[in-house]
Amino acid sequence: MSQPLDLRREQSIVVDEFYRDTWIEINLEAIKYNITQMKEKLPQDSNIIAVVKANAYGHGIVPVAKKAIESGANGLAVALLEEAIKLRRAAIDVPILVLGLVPPRYAPIAAENNITLPFFQREWLDEINQYDLKKPLHLHLKFDTGMGRIGLRTEEELEDVLQGLIGNPKVQLTGVFTHFATADETDLNFFYEQNERFNRLLMVFKEKWDLPVTIHIGNSAASIRFPKSVHNCIRFGISMYGLYPSATVKEEHQINLRPAFSLHSKLVHVKKLSKGESVSYGRTYIAEADEWIGTVPIGYGDGWSRKLQGMSVLVEGNRMPIVGRICMDQLMIRMDREYKIGTKVTLIGKQGNDNIEIDEIADYLETINYEIPCMLNERIPRVYVN
Ligand SMILES: *Cc1c(COP(=O)(O)O)cnc(C)c1O
Repeated sequence: MSQPLDLRREQSIVVDEFYRDTWIEINLEAIKYNITQMKEKLPQDSNIIAVVKANAYGHGIVPVAKKAIESGANGLAVALLEEAIKLRRAAIDVPILVLGLVPPRYAPIAAENNITLPFFQREWLDEINQYDLKKPLHLHLKFDTGMGRIGLRTEEELEDVLQGLIGNPKVQLTGVFTHFATADETDLNFFYEQNERFNRLLMVFKEKWDLPVTIHIGNSAASIRFPKSVHNCIRFGISMYGLYPSATVKEEHQINLRPAFSLHSKLVHVKKLSKGESVSYGRTYIAEADEWIGTVPIGYGDGWSRKLQGMSVLVEGNRMPIVGRICMDQLMIRMDREYKIGTKVTLIGKQGNDNIEIDEIADYLETINYEIPCMLNERIPRVYVN
C-alpha cells in the first residue's frame, strides 16, 4: 500500500488524475463502521442524516455520501445549496437537507432538485410565494434554542411563520430541528436548557400542526451521549468520520469509532547537513550536529499550516520532527539516520506501532479536530480504500 499510483489502479473508487507522492487515504469501511456503531445505540425506528458539508469534512463529498447511504444513512445534510446539487448530479436520490439559509430567489432550483431547505423567517416564506416552483418546496423549520446562529426564537415568531405555512401549496413542511451549542461539554446545564426551550416550542408547534414531520436535534455529541432522547432522527457529522466531538466525549468513550482519514507522502530528497548548516527560509533551524534531513513534498499551499513547524511525522513508524519553516509546497524533517528516497512518510494516521491522530494535530494548532481535514485542500488527492 505504499504506491498511491497502485492504489489508484486497484482500490480506489473515485480519484482524479494526480502525479504527486502526497495523498489522503479515506477508509470507507471506517465510515460504515462508525454509522453501524451509532445505529446500534439509537432506537430501532431512528434515522440517520449523514452530514457531508464542506466536502464531507474534507473527506470527499460524493464517495462518503454514497458509502453513508450504503451503510444505512437515510438522508444527507450539507451547508450550501451547491453542495446539495453536486450530490444530485452524482445521481444520489435520498432526501438532502441544506443546513444554512439559502436566499429565497434560489428556491426554484432547490424545488426542482428535490432539495430540502431550512427556514425560520416569515419574510423568507413570503418571498418564496413570488416564485414559480415546478414542485412543492420541502422545508424544515429551524428553532434557535440557544445556539444564537439561525432559527426562530419565540412563540410569536413561530405562530407568524405557521400562518404563512398553513394552506400554502408551494411548500411542504417535512421537518423541525434545532442545534446544540454545548452538547459536547462536561457542563451540560445549557444543553438541558436548550432541550427545554425546544420542547416548549415543539408543544406550541404540535398544537397548530398535525401532519407528520421529522424531528432532529442531535449532532454527534448529543446523539452519542443521549441516543434515546434525540427524537426520531440525528444529524451525524464528526463521529461518522471516526472523530470524537470533544475531549470530554472521547474520555467518556460511549462509542467505538475508527478514523477514516490518513495523510501520507514520501521522501523526495535525503541529505546530511553538517553542524551549523541551516534549513529553509529565515534560517530558523540550524543543525546542532551532523544530521540527516529529509524533504517531504507537502506545504501550506496544501493546507499543511506553517504553524506545524516542530510537529512530528512518522517514518518507518518513528517520529521525526519538522524542522525549519514549512514552505508552500515542501517541508523538511530531521531524521535519526539515512532513509531511502521514496520512503513513506505518514503525517496523519498509523505507521508501524505509532499513530498520529487528527486530535494531536488539532491540539498542536490550538484548534478542534473538525478543522484539520477541512484545511487540507483539494490539491491533495483523496484515495478511497474499501
Ligand atoms: C455541522 C452540523 C452538524 C454536525 O455536527 P457534528 O458535531 O459534526 O456531528 C449538525 N447540525 C448542524 C446544524 C450542523 O451545522
